[in-house]
Amino acid sequence: MSLRHVSHLPVNDNSNGWSRILPPRTPKAALASDVEVDWIVIGAGYAGLAAARRLAENRPGDTIALIEAGEVGENASGRNSGFAIDLPHVVGSSKDELEGSHRYMALARFAIDYHESRIARHGIDCDWTQPGKYQTAVSDKGVRDFLEPFARELEALDEPYTWIDKPDLDRRLGTAHFKAAVYTPGCRLLNPAALVRGLADSLPENVTLYENTPVTGLETGREICVTTAGGEVRGSQMILGVNAFAEHFGYYIRQLLPFAANASLTRRLTPAERDALGCEDNWGVTPANAFASITMRFTNDHRILIRNNIYYNPKMRETQGFVADIARRHKKLFDERFPMLPDVEMEYTWTGYICFSQNGAPGFGRLADNVYSSVCQNAIGVTKGTAGGVLAADMACGVDNELIGYMLDLGQPSKLPPRPLLDIGVRARLAWELWNARREV
Ligand SMILES: Cc1cc2nc3c(=O)[nH]c(=O)nc-3n(C[C@H](O)[C@H](O)[C@H](O)COP(=O)(O)OP(=O)(O)OC[C@H]3O[C@@H](n4cnc5c(N)ncnc54)[C@H](O)[C@@H]3O)c2cc1C
Repeated sequence: MSLRHVSHLPVNDNSNGWSRILPPRTPKAALASDVEVDWIVIGAGYAGLAAARRLAENRPGDTIALIEAGEVGENASGRNSGFAIDLPHVVGSSKDELEGSHRYMALARFAIDYHESRIARHGIDCDWTQPGKYQTAVSDKGVRDFLEPFARELEALDEPYTWIDKPDLDRRLGTAHFKAAVYTPGCRLLNPAALVRGLADSLPENVTLYENTPVTGLETGREICVTTAGGEVRGSQMILGVNAFAEHFGYYIRQLLPFAANASLTRRLTPAERDALGCEDNWGVTPANAFASITMRFTNDHRILIRNNIYYNPKMRETQGFVADIARRHKKLFDERFPMLPDVEMEYTWTGYICFSQNGAPGFGRLADNVYSSVCQNAIGVTKGTAGGVLAADMACGVDNELIGYMLDLGQPSKLPPRPLLDIGVRARLAWELWNARREV
């Protein structure tokens, strides 16, 4: 029997632009009495939502409580840049690395198919489209050190891509900022808050979602008991989908690295501004270096998204003053890229929290006889979090699914040094990363 007080809880600052541009949604009721269920799932991001749905499908006669501290769509799953990416960022060329990439792509494509079938079945309106994505480089060094090897690796994987030279790229994106890009067709773009809302509002009948219900205590043993302000939830098995908060539940201690990332959405461009931009509609750009440079999108409703600043943030808290500074910085980055649009402001700016591990491995698998997890998606949660949630449920139900092995092959988060050594090490490594990629901004 183990007892744990969960004291570090998520905070919603109501700044997420993706949900602000959607109609208001009424959250599901918070837990208001003691309940007994077969399964407890904690956290309603991609991982928890996928786990709860799959448990319900695997065991239609069982009851499942899905417990969420805040409101669906306000977490990292609703705050991201909205890329459902089908390819690994770095492939490598050895036989093992290529095999690893094939398994990785199988997981990512499983998750994309999973989303597409739920979106179609439940009529989820989340702006899901397949425009592909441009992997860009700003400097000659970025082209040489990242884009060219990436293109060679795609060839080794037999994956389709197009090399886009500068003049063509300028015309496609409406900015002269980049040197070249590798275009790959498989990436989907979406409004992430609309997708998670749609998934949460179409859960099977044997799942009860409790929103605004932070878990403050956890007792594990033969039975599991979760404490919340409104009552206790007892169950026989549990899946944890709480991302970097897993440490506060007593799991993956000194294995997880909570980072923050900031994003902004401009207001909608007017028809005259779109003419001045003169580019394709609906594109997505990911950078050669995700830490130093900028992810961008031109959305279907004619806003531009800017995502940059990934930094170590173990408290998972940010001040309003800092976010206001970020909005000004994003405006400057926007102006450098789109000088023909001088009057376009950032309408929304927000922070979200990402969970990394040092070796890039997910926190997936069995933690005790009756406790499973899908946490730590290393910034690719739209696909990896979803696959991890489904596969954690299959594992817990004893379903034979070869993708469980693929997920386990990604390894486990490696052990980190104790703080404050860890903080110094992570910040030094990040500073080096930013310096090394300084020409990619
Ligand atoms: C700005 C930004 C851009 C990104 N861009 C992309 C992208 O383009 N593509 C991509 O694939 N990924 C992207 N990511 C990463 C992606 O958003 C995450 O990997 C993904 O959301 C993780 O999903 P999850 O379900 O594991 O965790 P979360 O979405 O973090 O969900 C965990 C849930 O657990 C809940 N929880 C925690 N503690 C408790 C408690 N005590 N009681 C009850 N509930 C609790 C939280 O409230 C939260 O809802 C981005 C992230 C950010 C911040």
